Amino acid sequence: MAKREHNERVLLIFSHPDDESYGCGGTMAKYVQEGNTDVFLLTLTRGEASSQGQKLGLTKEQMGEKRSAEIREVARIYGLTELFLLDFPDSQLETLDPCELEGAISKIVKQVEPQVIISFPPHGISGFVDHIITHAVVKRVFVELRETTRYLRRFAMQCVPDTVAGMMERHIHTELVDKIDCRIHVEPYLEFKRRGLEVQKSIAEVIARDNANNALMQPNEYYRFFKERFVPPVEDLFANLRARRRASNRGAGTSVRPWRIGST
Ligand SMILES: [Zn+2]
Repeated sequence: MAKREHNERVLLIFSHPDDESYGCGGTMAKYVQEGNTDVFLLTLTRGEASSQGQKLGLTKEQMGEKRSAEIREVARIYGLTELFLLDFPDSQLETLDPCELEGAISKIVKQVEPQVIISFPPHGISGFVDHIITHAVVKRVFVELRETTRYLRRFAMQCVPDTVAGMMERHIHTELVDKIDCRIHVEPYLEFKRRGLEVQKSIAEVIARDNANNALMQPNEYYRFFKERFVPPVEDLFANLRARRRASNRGAGTSVRPWRIGST
């Protein structure tokens, strides 16, 4: 792994290939292009259960292989430091022992040592059960490792504000604009996002439907932070983490605790 010790690190954890690009494509591209952050992606399934596979006349195995190849290309387009692609059963995460998922996620978090983890919010945005399970297990791993490691600081939950949700042709769960903690301006990086979506040809029909009104190509991407509150929203996933890290480096041996603003 080409992890550079001085760089900040963010790990995105999602259920299926494409989840990463929908809400975070611009964010990934921005941090990679700015050059000070290593961006890692963990995708829990190969997306083999998509109904698009049947339309293409593919077996689940073939669809899984096709989407695996596509997500590897996505990682290359964004310039990710590393892609972790696991093989948990698509659309069946609820049938698994959550400890099994937690163990797999925890192992990769310990390997990457990210300051920030990104995943779904509690409602999973689309409401897909895989997304909801993913949120729950990632949050569980986050709270545990935050207490026992020195690197982990923040759990950022990707979200869609109510002002943008109306552009989607299907119902999704949204956040009130004033509940959002972080707004990342991604307009200069939308070309990466467009390519990251375009290369996922096996689900092109779904992407085209969701992006019919350009909902996926908006100039900002949005996050809520677990147990933190920023008003107005910050514009950096690492906001308020850097100063403290420098201070903690100076004061060797002092305990490092998350700095929670207006904790609820
Ligand atoms: Zn998904």
